[in-house]
Amino acid sequence: MANVILLGPPGAGKGTQAKRLVDGRDMIQLSTGDMLREAKTSGTEMGRKVADVMARGELVTDEIVIGLIEEKIAQNTAGGFIFDGFPRTLKQADALAELLVRTGQRLDAVVEMQVDDAVLVARITGRYTCGNCAAVYHDTTRPTMVEGTCDVCGSHDLRRRADDTEEALKTRLMEYYKKTSPLIGYYYAKGQLSAVDGLAPVEAVADAIAKVLDKR
Ligand code: ADP
Ligand code: AMP
Repeated sequence: MANVILLGPPGAGKGTQAKRLVDGRDMIQLSTGDMLREAKTSGTEMGRKVADVMARGELVTDEIVIGLIEEKIAQNTAGGFIFDGFPRTLKQADALAELLVRTGQRLDAVVEMQVDDAVLVARITGRYTCGNCAAVYHDTTRPTMVEGTCDVCGSHDLRRRADDTEEALKTRLMEYYKKTSPLIGYYYAKGQLSAVDGLAPVEAVADAIAKVLDKR
């Protein structure tokens, strides 16, 4: 059992790798982005509040995302949690450390997925996901086998995200470098950081992450 943070800019491949860990190791994916999109779709007050902020590519408030994680972290998991897209600020990182202590858990690894900014536009603008099972695809590098049909669950509900545009990506990247990239130094200083090459093929990235988890 391991609790791991996947850290990297939008398009680094966090969601893709998280799904593989869920399937392969019985881990639970905690994606604050997915939770916020769910709140938006189900029309909750919080969902309405964050919709514009998310569409612009800015971060939502620390209080909201810390609250979302707090709700989930108490559940039992055989394999551990994968934090995907959380924490994104130093305040969130401190809150996570506190929550883990309070629930008698620990953080086992932080995996920094290193990519060149130059690939991110192509990755983000080509991304689509299954609205039913959240499988992640790409127009050129990972299309569905049958056009319009999810390989995993057979759903025809394939979607593109409102913030997966070149324009919103500029803001998302700026937010990443201003507010999230300091976490690399933060976890390095705590001796918890491992870096993997996020530019490698999906399989090779998965192998590199497996090595990090297995050597703890
Ligand atoms: P994140 O969750 O970090 O924003 P995703 O996992 O959604 O990133 O990946 C973004 C896009 O890049 C998706 O369309 C995905 O299919 C593609 N992708 C993910 N990992 C790789 C990889 N190692 N090589 C090429 N494309 C990838
Ligand atoms: P993601 O799905 O991780 O790319 O997140 C999509 C959007 O949700 C981000 O651009 C933010 O607006 C919001 N978001 C997701 N996770 C967080 C977080 N930990 N802190 C603040 N905002 C977040």
